[in-house]
Amino acid sequence: MRILLVEDEPTLRLGLVDLLSGDGHHVESAAEGTRGLALALSESFDLIVLDWMLPGLPGIEICRRVRAARPGVPIMMLTARGDEADKVRGLTDGADDYVTKPFSAKELLARVRVMGRRAPQAQLEQLSVDGAVFDFARLTVTRNGHVQELAPREVGMLRLLHERAGGVVSRAEILEKVFGQRGDLQTRAVDMAIAVLRKKIERDAGLPAIIVSIKGAGYAWGNR
Ligand code: CA
Repeated sequence: MRILLVEDEPTLRLGLVDLLSGDGHHVESAAEGTRGLALALSESFDLIVLDWMLPGLPGIEICRRVRAARPGVPIMMLTARGDEADKVRGLTDGADDYVTKPFSAKELLARVRVMGRRAPQAQLEQLSVDGAVFDFARLTVTRNGHVQELAPREVGMLRLLHERAGGVVSRAEILEKVFGQRGDLQTRAVDMAIAVLRKKIERDAGLPAIIVSIKGAGYAWGNR
C-alpha cells in the first residue's frame, strides 16, 4: 500500500516509517500538519495515518478536509491514551479507525493490514466526460483548454457521484459524506454547492449532463 504518515514526534515517525516499509508498504511522511494535508490532497494514498496532536494543523482537521476531498481513502488516527472524547470525535469526523498510544508494532501492523483489506481500488485521478477533463489529484477541470480550480469539497462530490454511477445519491448522503454534517435543514447547502459546481464543469449549467438532478431523490452521475 501507499501510506501517508503524519506524525510530529521524530522517534515515533522514523520508527513507524521503518516498521511499515519493512512490512512492504511505500511510506511518505510529514512532521507537520499543513504539509501533511498538502501531501494527502496532492497524491494518491491507500491509507493515511494521522497523529491527533500536530503542529500546523491538528490531525482531526486534516481528517475532515481529506474526507471532504477524498471520501474513499481509509484514515487511521493515532490518539492519546484513554481519551474517549477524541475517539468519538475522530470517528464522527470521518476516521475509519484509531489506535491508542502507546501501541505495539504488532498491533499497528495488524490494524494496517485490516485497513488494507478495506482499501478501495486505487483512486480515480483523471476522468473525461462530456468534454470536461477532471484531474482530481490536482483539483482542476479543463474544458475547451480553459482550466478551473475545484474546491476539495467539489472533488469530493464528484468522486462520490462517480463512484455511485448508475444510482442516485441523496442530498443527505452528500451532506454527511462530503460536508461532514447532518440535518434536513442543511440540504439546501448541497443544492447551492451543486449549482456552483455545475457552472464550472457543465457545457451548459442550465442543461446539466454530468451531474443530473433526480427529482425527489437527489443527484446522479449523468453518464449513466
Ligand atoms: Ca503529536
